[in-house]
Amino acid sequence: MATNTPTQAPVIGHWIDGKAVTGAGAGRLPVYNPATGAVSAQAALATPADVDTAVAAARAAFPAWADTPPLRRARIMFKFLQLLQENRERLAHAITAEHGKVYEDALGEVARGIDIVEFACGIPQLLKGDYTEQVAGGLDNWTVRQPLGVVAGITPFNFPVMVPMWMFPVALATGNTFVLKPSPIDPSPSLLLGELLKQAGLPDGVFNVVQGDKDAVNALLEHPDVKAVSFVGSTPIANYIYETGARHGKRVQALGGAKNHMVVMPDADLEQAADALIGAGFGSAGERCMAVSVAMLVGDVGDKLIPMLVERAKALKVRNGEDRAAEMGPIVTAAAHARITGYIEQGVKEGAQLLVDGRGFDAKQAGDGCEKGFWMGATLFDKVTPRMRIYKEEIFGPVLSCVHVKDLAEAVALINAHEFGNGVACFTRDGQVAREFGRRIEVGMVGINVPIPVPMAWQGFGGWKRSLFGDMHAYGEEGVRFYTRQKSIMQRWPDSIGKGAEFTMPTPGGA
Ligand code: NAD
Repeated sequence: MATNTPTQAPVIGHWIDGKAVTGAGAGRLPVYNPATGAVSAQAALATPADVDTAVAAARAAFPAWADTPPLRRARIMFKFLQLLQENRERLAHAITAEHGKVYEDALGEVARGIDIVEFACGIPQLLKGDYTEQVAGGLDNWTVRQPLGVVAGITPFNFPVMVPMWMFPVALATGNTFVLKPSPIDPSPSLLLGELLKQAGLPDGVFNVVQGDKDAVNALLEHPDVKAVSFVGSTPIANYIYETGARHGKRVQALGGAKNHMVVMPDADLEQAADALIGAGFGSAGERCMAVSVAMLVGDVGDKLIPMLVERAKALKVRNGEDRAAEMGPIVTAAAHARITGYIEQGVKEGAQLLVDGRGFDAKQAGDGCEKGFWMGATLFDKVTPRMRIYKEEIFGPVLSCVHVKDLAEAVALINAHEFGNGVACFTRDGQVAREFGRRIEVGMVGINVPIPVPMAWQGFGGWKRSLFGDMHAYGEEGVRFYTRQKSIMQRWPDSIGKGAEFTMPTPGGA
């Protein structure tokens, strides 16, 4: 993508100190409607000076916000929740226009973001500390959790509403102030979120948005006033964010890429398994970190299942996301389209069997005006082996690979050897298989007959291995811990203090 693209398209700027601003930087990135290929807007690119302005606003807002009683912060979250419910369609249309995903799916994304706001509304309960009375004579000890200060969130293109909302509702409710750096591919929803937060009564400066790319990210990573960074995106960048942020003394949580397997056991309901593979493999054009990209077929399951997959993949309704009949929309950008096409070529070259080829999809089928959009159909490979690049690497597109294994042990061993460990599923009717699979698999999020097991708001989200860098998962109680630091207070009063210096730490006494 070119920078400094001079077009007549409107500029999508930043949200700083409760106002929309375009910032000092002159750089712009074109924003496309992926369904038509047309440039719909330009995303401003924040300079380090713009980032500094946003961080300064967040820093100035921090003391008063951190001192605001949790219940009052929760009340603002309640108002925000109500506004999100009233504006869910507006947000979903904004997602479809810049990301391309089908409208129904965009509504689902908004709904899963709303879940986290509902969780954050319970913050007074979540911030309660522990208290132990009489740890020694007249001595009590308790813990509190306090906010960190200014925290930053750096988010990917594939969930422009939900992923920021994995972060900022918990960060704000716990008393931090926030700077969001969304993906420049679909920047509009972030500004809508800023407006709704303001309408909900959030004080200016508590939530800020800087548009941009790596320069803005580096400015946040290096900024001395940013105390923590949450990142979601591809693994190489997650690794970089983790190492750079840690080097600059920040708390970092960096969620990365994925290669999610779905194991189908011989006793599984094959109709359900086929539907699950098609939905989880091609939903959102495979551009989900929890998309299933490998079908691991145990024993002779493939004999019946593969013809079912071929039929369903060919019948998929690939249309403009605003078409209510659409099941899959376009690919997000021309660059992503080229990358996915390259992987399909690579799979053929490596000897995988191409059963359904999504290349050359006729864009006219997608709807009027879609001829120049970034279109591709579903692709299905069979006879994929663990040595192939299409097995090892994240494709992040509508490409499903079938791998055959002899039994559950082989499936588990292969999955555990993979560098990613985000999500996994096992389809079976056998309780013992399900239990063993859940216990033995080295993956952070597991579904038993559930193809996309995205944990609920209070459970926390996160993968293992190179799918997450850092110690804590996003949202849920781990999110509360990530955005707060624990303080222990010990207290006693003069009447309970004996005379004379003590040369030991407080102990309860006795044996
Ligand atoms: P990306 O890594 O290209 O971009 C993510 C963010 O990093 C964006 O804000 C981007 O502007 C910024 N960025 C890009 N290049 C950078 C650089 N060189 N230096 C600093 N910052 C940079 O990811 P994407 O293409 O937007 O999103 C897709 C990826 O995100 C996939 O790999 C997917 O698996 C992953 N993802 C993971 C999760 C999860 O929870 N684990 C969730 C959603 C997406």
